[in-house]
Amino acid sequence: MINDAQFKQYLRQLSLTNVGEAGQADIVNSHVLIIGCGGLGTAASIYLAGAGIGRIVLADDDVIETSNLPRQIAYGYADIGMSKVACLAKSLSDQNPNISVRAINKRLEASQLAIEISLADVVVDCSDNITTRQAVNQYCRHHNTDLVTAAAIGWNGQLSVFPFSSNLDVPCYRCLFPFDEIKGTSKCSESAVMGLWLDDGGLSSARDIKATPSSSSL
Ligand SMILES: [Zn+2]
Repeated sequence: MINDAQFKQYLRQLSLTNVGEAGQADIVNSHVLIIGCGGLGTAASIYLAGAGIGRIVLADDDVIETSNLPRQIAYGYADIGMSKVACLAKSLSDQNPNISVRAINKRLEASQLAIEISLADVVVDCSDNITTRQAVNQYCRHHNTDLVTAAAIGWNGQLSVFPFSSNLDVPCYRCLFPFDEIKGTSKCSESAVMGLWLDDGGLSSARDIKATPSSSSL
């Protein structure tokens, strides 16, 4: 169960009938891996940290650029040139010192990606390329780790939840997108995107974690 300090901190959300103290205990004991700390990843992580997700792992190899600032709301002018994960980890720890935040300043691949996914209850894929998305999907499916995947470009956004920890025979990301490359430009870093849309996708990712079986009482 949760302690008195946690009860006080999370009172407003645990007062919701479908959360309660047991639900908040589940949140506090949850481990979420966020892959990609751009617009989607920053928006999702801020709300997950605020809600009290006990263990958040951030993975990204980018540094902050001026053109990131309109949509990557955790970063400011003073952060330009800094590592995204280092900056975001500090920000989340300041926001909620009662959670654990670990930063991985690299693009997760192969065995390291598989290990991090096997340790997590839920993976939030906010990456910007189809190769990473297919690899994340493959390892989430293999390790029965729930996957929330979000993407945004231009004025469009996508959000999908794959409840791999359930006993259901659910389709996976590859069932939906059966290819390993996308022709033409499809990254925010190379094309147009509206910041508010990314933040909306990130917030939806945070919200939709409640739909995954391993956090069914969130
Ligand atoms: Zn599939």
